[in-house]
Amino acid sequence: MSETEFEIIRRYFMRQSLQREDVIAGIGDDAAVLQVPAGQELVVCMDTLVAGVHFPEGTPAAAIGHKSLAVNLSDLAAMGATPAWATLSLTLPETNSTWIDAFSHAFCALADRYGVQLVGGDTTRGPLSVTVQAHGFVAAGTALRREGAKPGDRIYVTGTLGDAGLALQLRERAPGELRKKLDYPEPRIEAGRALAGLASAAIDISDGLLADLGHLLEWGRSGASVQVDALPRSAAFLATLRRPGSHKQSSWYELPLSAGDDYELCFTVPEVLCPRVEQQLSALSCGCTRIGIIEEAAGIRCYLEDGTRYQPVATGYRHFDGANT
Ligand code: ADP
Ligand code: MG
Repeated sequence: MSETEFEIIRRYFMRQSLQREDVIAGIGDDAAVLQVPAGQELVVCMDTLVAGVHFPEGTPAAAIGHKSLAVNLSDLAAMGATPAWATLSLTLPETNSTWIDAFSHAFCALADRYGVQLVGGDTTRGPLSVTVQAHGFVAAGTALRREGAKPGDRIYVTGTLGDAGLALQLRERAPGELRKKLDYPEPRIEAGRALAGLASAAIDISDGLLADLGHLLEWGRSGASVQVDALPRSAAFLATLRRPGSHKQSSWYELPLSAGDDYELCFTVPEVLCPRVEQQLSALSCGCTRIGIIEEAAGIRCYLEDGTRYQPVATGYRHFDGANT
């Protein structure tokens, strides 16, 4: 190693100017000492990204730095939590200062934007792997849960779906906006906070809408109808599918339904609260779109605009009411 472990930590991971008052001891001591505000509950999550499994070899260091924290902040968003702290376990094959600099710069930039202080971690040598733990707060009793969707509740998603999936399919040929959605997903923190106390259930979409909505239904012991023409698609997604030679028809429905990595929120709202939720989320850049309704009968039923059933092609998710599960 050209730099000792502590030099790496000092140079690249103590670069945040943010110093939260609830951090009594941060990086540098044997462990962090942290103060949870009175009346708040601590919300904790962890996600690991392994090279070649969760991102292709050769993914830019900045994208890995951003995404390793973003996927955790997305989990906090799905709980309605306000992020506060993070810890980082970094396993590196070699000490490459250019790589670590780009990684930590992107990680700290996202952390700064959401007021998250990096308070500790571990640095080891081995095949590239990044584990982040994120911590946030919710007012006691107000966390959004997967459990709680009731028949009659409306189903919504934030932002647009299918962008990351299309970028993954097209790789280098993907337009910048789609590539950005795949490599630099924006955690829907403000949306999650606005929904705490209003939504009956919430989840973030990491594995695809059908799979993740399926989890909500599993917890709520219910089913759903989804209007596939109502699924929100970005301008870049539409323009790309209009290119000659693209498999428009299948991708148009399949990517928003089944592709992962969008990190939007899927949530359910009792009908009486819908106007309030729509008003609050319309003030945010991501917005929200109503895509369906919770029903008693198990399974997910997809419908086209004209009322006919649409049978998704993709399999691999449970809780789909059809022959091809
Ligand atoms: P120990 O020998 O007690 O395990 P380390 O040398 O691993 O301590 O870490 C020293 C300090 O640096 C600790 O406060 C630890 O939390 C922090 N640290 C180590 N690696 C990282 C990292 N990748 N990101 C942030 N903090 C780190
Ligand atoms: Mg250690």
